[in-house]
Amino acid sequence: MTDATAPPTVVKARKAPRMTYKQEIQTIKNLPRTQRLIVIMKIAGVFLVAIGLEGIVTGQYAYTLLFIPLGVFVSMMPIKIRTGVCIACRSPLEQHQAICPKCGAPQM
Ligand SMILES: [Zn+2]
Repeated sequence: MTDATAPPTVVKARKAPRMTYKQEIQTIKNLPRTQRLIVIMKIAGVFLVAIGLEGIVTGQYAYTLLFIPLGVFVSMMPIKIRTGVCIACRSPLEQHQAICPKCGAPQM
C-alpha cells in the first residue's frame, strides 16, 4: 500500500464571483449618468420582454401584448441614442464597430 488514498476533499470550492456580472456592475458604476441609464434601460427592456414571454406561457396574453412591445421599445431606444460614441470612453465610433478601437471596451 504505497499509494496513499486521496484524502477527503479539503479543497473547498472557492466562492467564485461571477466576473461577467461583477464587471457589468462595475461598468455601470463607471459610466456617466446618461450612459448608465442606457444600460439600465437595455437590461430593463430584456426583462420586460421576458415578462411578456412569460405571459404566453401562462396564457395571460394581456401581459404579452403589453410587455413585449414595451420591452422592445425600451431596449431599442438606447441604441438610437448611443450612435457614434463608445460607452466607456465616449470616443467616436463607427456604428458597426462592436469593440471600441480606442479603449477596447465592448459595446453592449
Ligand atoms: Zn472606448
